[in-house]
Amino acid sequence: QFTKFEALNPEGMACVYKNPNEPIEARVKDLLSRMTLMEKIGQMTQIERSVATPSVLRDLSIGSILSSGGSAPFENARSSDWAEMVDGFQKSALRSRLGIPLIYGIDAVHGNNSVYGATIFPHNVSLGATRDSDLAQRIGAATALEVKASGIHYNFAPCVAVCKDPRWGRCYECYSEDPEIVRNMTSIVSGLQGQPPQGHKHGYPFVAGRNNVIACAKHFVGDGGTHKGVNEGNTILPYEDLERIHMAPYLDCISQGVSTIMASYSSWNGCQIHADRFLLTEILKDKLGFKGFVISDWEGLDRLCKPHGSNYRYCIYASINAGIDMVMVALRFNIFIKEMTSLVKSGEIPMSRIDDAVERILRVKFAAGLFEFPLSDRSLLDTVGCKPHRDLAREAVRKSLVLLKNGKDLSKPFLPLNRNAKRILVAGTHADDLGYQCGGWTKTWYGCSGRITVGTTILDAVKEAVGVETEVIYETRPSKGTIDRNEFSFAIVAVGEAPYAETLGDNSDLTIPFNGANIISSVADKIPTLVILISGRPLVLEPWLLEKIDALVAAWLPGSEGEGITDVIFGSHDFKGKLPMTWFRRVEQIDQSSDGVNSSDPLFPLGFGLTYN
Ligand code: BGC
Repeated sequence: QFTKFEALNPEGMACVYKNPNEPIEARVKDLLSRMTLMEKIGQMTQIERSVATPSVLRDLSIGSILSSGGSAPFENARSSDWAEMVDGFQKSALRSRLGIPLIYGIDAVHGNNSVYGATIFPHNVSLGATRDSDLAQRIGAATALEVKASGIHYNFAPCVAVCKDPRWGRCYECYSEDPEIVRNMTSIVSGLQGQPPQGHKHGYPFVAGRNNVIACAKHFVGDGGTHKGVNEGNTILPYEDLERIHMAPYLDCISQGVSTIMASYSSWNGCQIHADRFLLTEILKDKLGFKGFVISDWEGLDRLCKPHGSNYRYCIYASINAGIDMVMVALRFNIFIKEMTSLVKSGEIPMSRIDDAVERILRVKFAAGLFEFPLSDRSLLDTVGCKPHRDLAREAVRKSLVLLKNGKDLSKPFLPLNRNAKRILVAGTHADDLGYQCGGWTKTWYGCSGRITVGTTILDAVKEAVGVETEVIYETRPSKGTIDRNEFSFAIVAVGEAPYAETLGDNSDLTIPFNGANIISSVADKIPTLVILISGRPLVLEPWLLEKIDALVAAWLPGSEGEGITDVIFGSHDFKGKLPMTWFRRVEQIDQSSDGVNSSDPLFPLGFGLTYN
C-alpha cells in the first residue's frame, strides 16, 4: 500500500524507495543510487536548530537537526509548540529534491526533559538502584510517547556508560559501576524503540511504530572509565577489560536493534575514540555486527585537535575514515560540507565510505517509518505528563530509594515515620526545589533550580501525605537557635547537589554542597532526624554526621514525582533500592582497578540497602 506520499520519483516514475512494500534494503539501495555527492554529505550532517533555515534544509538535503542542550522554541514551550516547530523543519526537508525526511534529535535522558509539563523520570543512577529491567522498559516506552508527541523522532539515550568513578560529572547518567547491572537496564532500548520480533536480523536497526523513537546508546566506549573520572578523559585499560566492562552493555543494545550509537569524546589508551578506526569500524561494525549509524558527539570532530576547531579538514578525514557516519556538526556546517566534498573528490575519503555511512542513515530512517509518517501525530499530545506516566515515575522513585540507616539503635527503627505526628519540621536546600530534584538535563542542559516544570517537591508530598491534624513547618536553612526540640516530633532534612552536566559536574571533593553537613547537624542536634540525600552519586558522609542522624535515605535524582519518596518513608511501601555504586568513605579511597572494584573498605558496599522487613 502506498501512502499519501506518492511512490513516484521526481520524474513521475514509480520508484522503489518510496514504496513501503519494498524491503528496507532495496529502498536504501534505490535511494542511494539516485543521490548526488552533495545530497549524501547533506544526509551525514546534523545541524543545530538555530542554523536550520528552510533553504539550508531543502537545498543541502540535511539529514538531521538537534536542539542543543534541549533548546526549546521558546521558554516553557509545551509539546504542541515543539511539534509545530519540528514539523516546520520537516516540511522544508521534504521539499528537497528527493524528499528525504530529516530526523530531529534531542536528549530525552529521563523523560522528555526539555519540554515543559513532561513527566520527569528519575535519572539513570536511580534506575540502577531499582535493578528493575521491566521498569526500565516501561519508562522507555512512556518516554518514547512523550518525545513522539512533541514531534521529535530521535532520542540521544540511553547512556550505557559503566561509571567507575563518582567524581565523574556524568555519574548520574549511568545505571551503575557494575556492567551486569547496566546490561540489565538496557531494556530501556526495547521500550524506546519497541521490541524486535523473533528472528529480527542481528545488528539491524528496529523501530516498532509511530509510538516509538530512534534510540542512541552512548558514549562508545569507555567513557565511564576515564582516569580519575575526568570528563572526556582517557581510559587506560587492556582491550580485554575494555570489552568485558565497558563494551558489554552495547552487545545488549545491539541485540535489541538499537538504531544508533554515539562515539565518546573520551580516549582509550591515549587514542581519541572519534578517530579510532579499530573500535568504531573493526570492533563495533565488523565484529559486533552493528548495522545502524554511528553519530559523533556534539562538535566531536572539532575536539580532535587543540585548540578545538583547528585542523578541521584533518579531523573530518580522520573521523569519517574511522567510521563516524553522521556528524553532530552543530553550527559550522558550511565548512564541514565544503571540506567533506573536497576530501571525497581528492580520494582521501573513499566514496565507498560515504555510501556505507549514507546507507546506514537511510536504513534507520526507513526502519523508523519516516518516509511514511514524516510529521508529528497530534493524537499523542495527551500522553505528555499524563497520570499513568506520572504514576510510573512515582513507582520508579519508590523503587530507587536506598535506605542506608534506620535508627541509632538497630533494635529501634526510626522509619517509617508517623504521618499523624503533631508537628514536623521539613528543612534543607532540597526539600522544596523541583529543579534540584530533577538534576541536570532538565529544562536546560545543566539543569535549574525552582519550579521549572509540573511536579511535586518533597515538601509538597509531605503535606499531601500527613494527616489533617499534622502541622508541617518548613525552613530552608534552619539555625540551631530557631529550633525548639519540644515543638517537633521529628524532622525531614533534604540536602544534596545542585544540578550540573558533563564537565561542570566533575568534582574531586564530593562533600555535601551548600554546607549540607551544617544544615543537617543544626537540626539533628535538636530533633530526631531523617536525612534525604538528593544527589547524582555517593557523597562524603563523615562518621560524626552519620552518628548524629536517625535515618538516612539516598534518593538520587528522583525527578518530578516527589510523592514516590513519601510513599516509602511513611510506610505505605517498603524500601527496595540497592546501591548501584559503592559508597566510599573518603574520596582518596576511590581507586579503579582494572577489574572494576571501586574501593576497598567502603562505607556501604555495592548492593547495600536496608528494608523495613
Ligand atoms: C553530550 C551528549 C549529548 C550531546 C547532544 C554532548 O555534549 O556529550 O551526551 O547527546 O551533547 O546534546
